[in-house]
Amino acid sequence: MNPSDTFFQERLEHLRENDLYRKIRSLEMLEGNLRRLDGKEVLLFCGNDYLGLSRHPRVVRAFQVAAGEYGVGSGAARLVAGGISVHEALEKKIAAVKRKEKALLFSAGYLANLGAIAGLATHDDVVIMDKLCHASLIDAARLSGAQVRIFPHKNYERCEEILKLSGAFKKRVLVTDSVFSMDGDLADLKELTRLKQTYDALLIVDDAHATGVLGKEGQGACENWEDKIDVITGTLSKAIGGLGGFMAASEILVDYAVNHARPFIFATSLPPALCAAALEALYIIESEPELRDRLWKNVGRMQQCLDKSGFEMTSGFPIFPVILGEEKIALETSKTLMEGGILVPAIRYPTVAKGKARLRVTVNSLHREEDFSKFGRLLASIKKRVFLDPV
Ligand SMILES: *Cc1c(COP(=O)(O)O)cnc(C)c1O
Repeated sequence: MNPSDTFFQERLEHLRENDLYRKIRSLEMLEGNLRRLDGKEVLLFCGNDYLGLSRHPRVVRAFQVAAGEYGVGSGAARLVAGGISVHEALEKKIAAVKRKEKALLFSAGYLANLGAIAGLATHDDVVIMDKLCHASLIDAARLSGAQVRIFPHKNYERCEEILKLSGAFKKRVLVTDSVFSMDGDLADLKELTRLKQTYDALLIVDDAHATGVLGKEGQGACENWEDKIDVITGTLSKAIGGLGGFMAASEILVDYAVNHARPFIFATSLPPALCAAALEALYIIESEPELRDRLWKNVGRMQQCLDKSGFEMTSGFPIFPVILGEEKIALETSKTLMEGGILVPAIRYPTVAKGKARLRVTVNSLHREEDFSKFGRLLASIKKRVFLDPV
């Protein structure tokens, strides 16, 4: 073994001892929410493909046709030679959905956040963000070189205090998730837009989870606040079912990002087939509200399931955080569910705070009634085991 490997091995051992070790599972795709893992069929109650669009026949077909026409990769970054009309068509559509002048594509939601924040904020600025912002927003703030100030989750009074004290910075950039990815709760956009206006800050909202899910036609959580939000970022990899990210903003800000956002400038542009698939997915989101109806019906079923089995928690979103506390308990619970044929991974530090380990249960439009009965039965038995007979 290489001597330096000892260091890494010891650190990995430390993770294992603290129940924080992670490993990749290899799943085989079966129909709907079913997968095969180690020869055994399991049902997913995780993932973010809220409307099942990743395998929707129309989306798959659009992908295939575009791949036939344009090939697989785009060949270069947009500013070099990798931009074609389907990029622009998708950007136009996203701008229309988000009711902003322009949109700009990135190769992932993660990169969209890096690009939007690190592209617009710099050393003379301050980035003010919610404690539970997604990792990509935190990384983006660090990358920007701006000072970073964090306010406790949804504590907008504290946020206002920070804004009051930050008059010396050139720009104040206020950043939030619209739907918080590990808790499923929503930011107060009314309050944030008020703060933005009062303190003349730039407001950036990451609408990753809400796009396709919230809003009358699936526009996202920023519906009706668009003109008070400077930048809306998001992903094509959740409800839209593919891969890629975007920012939507005024023409000037998008133009600025094209010239300053390094994840845009220095990364190969999205494969045309993914753009065509995302475009088709956006049309489906608009024209088939029954997908969202099915999703919300399943959200109700999951709520009932959790109520009945004694897990006290409510969620207004398809994300249900079943907080268990200790990392070890979350791991054991996830394992018990797995033995019962249900896949819900344990979410632990550093994704969430230490001692706030949880099961992050998500539902989508493809879950069937019997899936909930199965999950409910297992949950009830786990509740007894975890809380009456601590593992
Ligand atoms: C998933 C997620 C991202 C990253 O999007 P990808 O397309 O997966 O890179 C960014 N922000 C939030 C809030 C997310 O949940």
